[in-house]
Amino acid sequence: MSAQQQRPAGRLYGVGLGPGDPSLMTLRAVEVIAAADVVAYHSARHGRSIARSIAERHIRPDHIEEALVYPVTTETTDHPGGYRGALEEFYEQAAARLAAHLDAGRTVAVLAEGDPLFYGSYQHMHQRLADRYETEVVPGVTSVSAAAARLGKPLVEADEVLTILPGTLPQEELTARLAATDAAVVMKLGRTYPAVRQALETSGRLPEAHYVERATMAGERTAPLAEVSPDSVPYFSVAVVPSRIATPPPAPAHGEVVVVGTGPAGPLWLTPESRGALARATDLVGYTTYLDRVPVRPGQARHASDNKVESERAELALDLARRGRRVAVVSGGDPGVFAMATAVLEVAAQDTYRDVPVRVLPGVTAANAAAARAGAPLGHDYAVISLSDRLKPWDVIAERLRAAACADLALALYNPGSRSRTWQVGKARDLLLDHRAPDTPVVLARDVGGPQESVRTVRLADLDPSEVDMRTILLIGSSQTRSVRRGPDPAGRPTVWTPRRYPEK
Ligand code: SAH
Repeated sequence: MSAQQQRPAGRLYGVGLGPGDPSLMTLRAVEVIAAADVVAYHSARHGRSIARSIAERHIRPDHIEEALVYPVTTETTDHPGGYRGALEEFYEQAAARLAAHLDAGRTVAVLAEGDPLFYGSYQHMHQRLADRYETEVVPGVTSVSAAAARLGKPLVEADEVLTILPGTLPQEELTARLAATDAAVVMKLGRTYPAVRQALETSGRLPEAHYVERATMAGERTAPLAEVSPDSVPYFSVAVVPSRIATPPPAPAHGEVVVVGTGPAGPLWLTPESRGALARATDLVGYTTYLDRVPVRPGQARHASDNKVESERAELALDLARRGRRVAVVSGGDPGVFAMATAVLEVAAQDTYRDVPVRVLPGVTAANAAAARAGAPLGHDYAVISLSDRLKPWDVIAERLRAAACADLALALYNPGSRSRTWQVGKARDLLLDHRAPDTPVVLARDVGGPQESVRTVRLADLDPSEVDMRTILLIGSSQTRSVRRGPDPAGRPTVWTPRRYPEK
């Protein structure tokens, strides 16, 4: 046997075969199979191997065939390690069988339907063998490309994002991902189909969704997904939500106003639901600064306006919706916190607009983003007050500050000042100092999440109004709030938090 031991080990190939039609195999795949000694393929216990049937015409009698037959297909098994344990053992044994051929100097081609590194069984062999043997992966046409080709619909264009989802995800996860993306392909239907369909419906994407079964194989079927009944859906099928630019979604049945908050800054704090609503709108209405945060989309009308015309903006939005448009009114942060939601609902209460649907979507508000940066200063009871006296008299503000201070609430102060409102912060500080210690921590958070972010903690007595502007929020601690330097914070910033327990009086 010494002659055999001296033979160099064979090469391992993961061979992508395309989605089903043998003529969609690459030239390289054919070449590799022709030169291989061993042809291996995975298959279900009682089923034939789909991969083998695609490559059938290239398999010769002198090929050694290795059928790697899955021991289980569903999550019921007697294996002590459960379904995962049974699979793990199967992959180990399958890899050992291939390794024996490779050690004997034989070239092994592992066939893979579609692309080997795209949800393929080949990956389990690759992970176990590629670091020990010379390995080449031959890419293949995926079912994603095949499905789009059969539908004849572009998947994504320009800046559109394509999301590929396994249908095995929890339904709520599918819903959130479908709501937020431009285009999507959902794989692994079959038993997952009812949940996938429900997720498409809940996310509002069902009218755009198509169904493709056995793309490029015998028995291929395509249909609008809404028309496909659950008992007819096999595993080899996908749902496709194509490019919105190339295939605009059907016009909305009726107009509506959706009030959306973009979060305090940047897309990290934009919820998937809000992202989806912004993408689906026919019209965007909002203050220029907030509209500028929303990417321009072809075919979407943008109505930007000045900051101080909330009612006119609300009226414009409601008028557009009454004419059948799907309107997103855009605020920063959360739309219900000193922002457009109330402005819209005030105007919508008028008889003229009684029948126009209005939905408000929640967003991340500035207080929460600022608090998170500092630690958890709002971790116990707190009050939210706007220091702007544009819509309420200063006396009311002062009274509320006093009441909150007496009740020892932490405070989040929105709209603390601007170029034209410069004295409010000083007044608020002096008023609070009547009730609270001079070294109460105050978090001064500016442009949180944005390019000019700065978060600093100062003593209440040192709060300087000139350091506050329109992009600043102030978080004032209660008597219990602590400010502690900990760990190697490069900027030497303290962590600020308010304990969960309040002492007995
Ligand atoms: N709807 C918004 C608030 C609008 S009022 C929200 O929920 O956050 C505008 C005030 O919000 C600003 O004057 C400032 O006090 C605060 N603000 C908004 N975004 C901010 C940010 N990124 N950093 C700090 N403060 C912010």
